[in-house]
Amino acid sequence: MLSYTDYKTKAAALEFRTGCWIDGAFVPSLSGETFPSINPATGHKLCDVAKGGAADIDRAVISARTAFEDGRWSGKTPAERKEVLLKLADLIRENLTEMALLDTLDMGKPISETVNVDAPGSAMFFQWHAEAIDKLYDEVAPTGGRDIAMIRRVPLGVIGAVVPWNFPLDMATWKLAPALATGNSVVLKPAEQSPLSVLFLAELAKEAGLPDGVLNVVPGFGEDAGQALGRHNDVDCLVFTGSTNVGKMFQRYAGESNMKQVWLETGGKSPNLIFADADLDQAADMAAFGIFFNQGEVCSANSRLLVHESIKDEMVAKLKTLAEAVVQGDPLDPATTMGAMVDAEHASRVEAYLKKGKAEATVVTGGARCTIGTSDAFIQPTIFTDVAADATIVKEEIFGPVLAIQSFSTDEEAIAMANDSIYGLAASVWTSDLTRAMSVSDALNAGTVSVNTVDALSPMTPFGGMKQSGFGRDLSIHSFDKYTALKTVWIKF
Ligand code: NAP
Ligand code: MG
Repeated sequence: MLSYTDYKTKAAALEFRTGCWIDGAFVPSLSGETFPSINPATGHKLCDVAKGGAADIDRAVISARTAFEDGRWSGKTPAERKEVLLKLADLIRENLTEMALLDTLDMGKPISETVNVDAPGSAMFFQWHAEAIDKLYDEVAPTGGRDIAMIRRVPLGVIGAVVPWNFPLDMATWKLAPALATGNSVVLKPAEQSPLSVLFLAELAKEAGLPDGVLNVVPGFGEDAGQALGRHNDVDCLVFTGSTNVGKMFQRYAGESNMKQVWLETGGKSPNLIFADADLDQAADMAAFGIFFNQGEVCSANSRLLVHESIKDEMVAKLKTLAEAVVQGDPLDPATTMGAMVDAEHASRVEAYLKKGKAEATVVTGGARCTIGTSDAFIQPTIFTDVAADATIVKEEIFGPVLAIQSFSTDEEAIAMANDSIYGLAASVWTSDLTRAMSVSDALNAGTVSVNTVDALSPMTPFGGMKQSGFGRDLSIHSFDKYTALKTVWIKF
């Protein structure tokens, strides 16, 4: 890590890419309109970014379709695509500080996280998918006789990707790496709060050798550019990460247009179950991490803590100490462990939940919005206890550093409370009893169950939800399923 002074100096000298990236070049939006990109930790404008709309999406889709049809990328061998994507991973690593600074400035998360998690993570995900793509074999069906029935994996064509602002570079990477590795072309719409890192990524992809038109990035607003992509008749598949409400809109857009495939990774309200036989110090440390990491702006944040009644007071005390040790401040300072909310509007939304929480539960620590420097987009790390099963703060996704603690007396009660949610993205279980670990994780409705840790995640394992947390999986070999169709070619002799 560099020093606070070095990061401030580098941030001041940073160059921003602000156009729509179409057909391998930055261009203004056709309307000429722009929107400001704000640093939420200061409230100051970083730059004005092209505001792409339906016409720009159309241009980008035409560019992506042309590239797909002429085979400049789709026609390359997996090994050739691998080389380009490995080079992209290298370029991300070579430009790691700049990449990290872009996400820190644009969405307010600590530089220690963008330098150690987001930017190296993006390189790792590109590398993993690149290395996997020339190790996947097609199949031959057991027809018997001399017939050959091949089951081949083919790219879908043009992928539309719409992503959120909480991990701007990584959420885009989770879509781009498998989509590009399998030979598709992509039109990406980043969140309006955080377009800057993926615009730089597009430029690096070109430098790595990705042909023009294969990756297009259209910054803009959801109702406008996002909807146009969702409704476009020449987009074959729409992959989305974001809120459950907007995810449902993409299903509607597809149904009302060309029935494109839609894959959704949406919200969560993930439970963290701590049994009395757990290692309580470790469980407390990771429970705090599970809710306070990335300001709690994590889809799989462990926002509901379910504790056995015999250890409740002890856990509440440990968590209070951990919450009060969080260092809020300028995200450019390597000592900062919690930055700003993504914008003042989101801070207001979280603040409204704090008010509701105070009416329906007991505040252990925090509970207020705060001003640091020139920005009021900060929320104190907050813990509520004695939260009723039907409380708003236990039902709704807050997407901030707000933990709701409930207690249980039996395993059956813990499981029933954990599953009492419209979401099913992730869950955690803390116990030293292997039998309990297996029976409880079997019973939880969640895409990922972490045992004696939180948010277990790797490029090797699929990530995604059940129930209204969505469907389809990012990461792992299984992520390729979303970007390919199975095609049967039967040769009769
Ligand atoms: P969001 O409001 O749903 O926005 C996500 C994306 O959809 C943004 O690019 C947004 O554009 C666009 N969008 C908004 N309204 C739209 C519309 N009417 N039509 C088409 N596109 C539209 O979510 P967010 O606030 O950015 O992110 C937070 C949410 O993401 C949380 O619910 C979180 O749980 C979820 N999330 C899920 C995962 C996962 O893997 N399951 C991972 C991370 C985050 P604008 O920026 O212009 O609004
Ligand atoms: Mg911003």
